Amino acid sequence: MKTIHEVIQDVYAAMRARKMTGKNAAYIPDLATVDPNLYAISVCTVRGETENCGDCTAEVGIESVSKVFTLALALNRHGIAGVFDKIGSSMERHAFNSTSDVVHTRNHTVNAFVNAGAMATTSLLYNAAETHKQNETRMRAEIVDNMSRFAGRKLKVNKSLYLSEYTHSDHNAALIAKLMRYRRFYGDAETTLKTYTAQCSVMVTSKDVAVMAATLAAGGKNPITGQRLLTPQKTAYVVHHMSEHGLYNESQQWWAKTHLPAKSGVGGVIMIVIPGVMGIGIVSPPLNKYGNSARGIKTGELLGLALRDAGFTPSNVNFNPTVGKQIPRVVLF
Ligand code: GLN
Repeated sequence: MKTIHEVIQDVYAAMRARKMTGKNAAYIPDLATVDPNLYAISVCTVRGETENCGDCTAEVGIESVSKVFTLALALNRHGIAGVFDKIGSSMERHAFNSTSDVVHTRNHTVNAFVNAGAMATTSLLYNAAETHKQNETRMRAEIVDNMSRFAGRKLKVNKSLYLSEYTHSDHNAALIAKLMRYRRFYGDAETTLKTYTAQCSVMVTSKDVAVMAATLAAGGKNPITGQRLLTPQKTAYVVHHMSEHGLYNESQQWWAKTHLPAKSGVGGVIMIVIPGVMGIGIVSPPLNKYGNSARGIKTGELLGLALRDAGFTPSNVNFNPTVGKQIPRVVLF
C-alpha cells in the first residue's frame, strides 16, 4: 500500500501533466491577476504529521472557505439550535451568490455557505449594544483570530484584495437588502458587509488550509497547537454542513464521487476533511462553471480515491509508514 507521501506525489504529478481548464474569478479584479499556474497540495493528519507538494507557501485569498470558521464562531455564540433556526440548511439550486435562491427558498438564508446565508451568519456576531465601528473592529478581530487559531499561525487580511472586493460588493449588498426585508439578517448591513469582505480577504497557503481542515478532522482540536477550538458536536455540525453545501450546486456530484466533506473558495482553495484522519488543502486558482477550483476538484477526487485505496478512510485508519507512527482509530462524528 502507498504512503501518504507517495499518494500526494503521484496525484500531484498526474494532475500537473493534465491540460488545465477553468478561469480565475474575474468579478473581483484582484483575483483575476493571481498566477493561474499556482498549484499546491498539503496534508495534515490528526496527529499533526504534514506532507506538502508544489507551491505550498504561496498565499491566496481564503474567500468562501472562511465561511466554515465564521459558522463555528456563530455556533459558539448561539448554539446549534440557534444557528439552525436563524440560518438553516436548505439546498442551493443556483450559483453561490444567487438572488433567486434567496427569494424562492422558504428560509431565505438558504444555508451558511452560499453568500446570502454566510453574510447572515457573520451578522450573528453583531452586538446591538456596540456602535457600528466597535462592531466592525471586534467582529473582524474575532474572525481573523479564530481562523488564525485554526491555522496555528497569525493570518492577515490582504488590504488590496479587501478594497478590490469591497468596491465590487454591490451584489452582496443587494443580497443583504433582500434578507433584511425577510427579517433574516441580524446585524447592521454595511458593518456586516465590510466584516464579511474582510474575512474573505484573509490570505492562506495550502499548508494553512490543511491544518485548519485537520482541526476539524480531529473534532475541533488543532493537532499542531493542541488548542481546542470547537466541541466535537459543533464540529460535526460544521463538517456535515460542508458535506451538504460546501461546493455549492456541485456539492451533490462531488459527494457521490468522494463521500468527503469539502469547502471551496473563489480564490482557488479547496479544503477537504477526512474525519478522524486528516485535513487536505489544495490551491489552484482557475475555477470551473460552479465557481470551484477546476484542478482542485479533480485533484480532490483523485486524492480521495487514492487515499481510500491506501487505507486512509474515515472508518479505517491505517498505519502511516512515512512517519512511523500509528494514527489512532477515532470515532468522532
Ligand atoms: N468573497 C466572495 C464573494 O462574496 C466569496 C465567494 C466564494 O468564494 N464563492 O463573492
